[in-house]
Amino acid sequence: MPLLVVENLSISLFDEGHETQLVDRISYQVEQGETLAIVGESGSGKSLSSLSVMGLLAKELRVTSGRIMLDGEDLLSLSSEEMRQRRGRDLSMVFQEPMTSLNPVRTIGSQIMESIEENLGFSRSAARTRAIELLQEVGMADAERRLRQYPHHFSGGMRQRVMIAIALAANPKLIIADEPTTALDVTIQAQILELMTRLCREHGTALVLITHNLGIVARYAQRVTVMYGGRIVEAGRAVDLYHRPRHPYTEGLLRSVPRLDQDRTQPLRPIQGSPADPFMKITGCRFHPRCPYAAPVCRETKPAFEAGAACHFPLNQESRDAS
Ligand code: SF4
Repeated sequence: MPLLVVENLSISLFDEGHETQLVDRISYQVEQGETLAIVGESGSGKSLSSLSVMGLLAKELRVTSGRIMLDGEDLLSLSSEEMRQRRGRDLSMVFQEPMTSLNPVRTIGSQIMESIEENLGFSRSAARTRAIELLQEVGMADAERRLRQYPHHFSGGMRQRVMIAIALAANPKLIIADEPTTALDVTIQAQILELMTRLCREHGTALVLITHNLGIVARYAQRVTVMYGGRIVEAGRAVDLYHRPRHPYTEGLLRSVPRLDQDRTQPLRPIQGSPADPFMKITGCRFHPRCPYAAPVCRETKPAFEAGAACHFPLNQESRDAS
């Protein structure tokens, strides 16, 4: 049985009696110990769907349909207190900017130890020993001294290592990392992703990696789900999406980032136009205003999700070579 099952999940924004659908019946699964990447531009719904798994949606946002099952438990049926207990113990989240998650007036040690004491019931001294081990696991030298320091003593990359230590503290079943490296420079990004995926593998923890950069996740995730305009437009094994994208949006994402396996003299080609505005009514395929392959049917009929992609004219090897 998969660890996480998200099934037909829809999320809407309710504002002054007006409903705007932001996530449209998405489904995905994550196996124990697996890394799944959810990729898309801002506004695609990727972060909202993950916040709903954590039970952290803002009050004006509501799940309007679907199920979220974690290890056989229906998370949407839990009270907010029950969900609070699951967070940290069963589920953890790593955010883009650790400074907003860490308390600036408490030492790093007290913040890691709090999670261990609360979720695992360790004594103060056992929690301290475990916190030192965790800091060492995330590659922090002189961990005992670091424990007594405050967040502002750490660089951006080091703070993200602390966040990973906190996320792992209670041995959760699942970690959701939302753009965990976007605020970091490129060399540090690779180190942090490498570290996070390795530690999750070693701990048997499943990882959902949310990002806008398909190029970055290709080597860290086993499977990828691509979202556009609140829908899943493509899903499959990372290696397949990277080499043989079926949806034009996935192809566009890949063409807009540098790749080691392509001619470096070729210019990058960003996707034309702007991401779909959820407040604007777009009939048919939501990607059609930006799609180089759009045909009349694309403007009229919403494509079904079939054989890994939601497109009337999914790409294949031949059409890619000809394009
Ligand atoms: Fe492009 Fe049409 Fe496919 Fe949408 S359905 S991605 S517009 S080809």
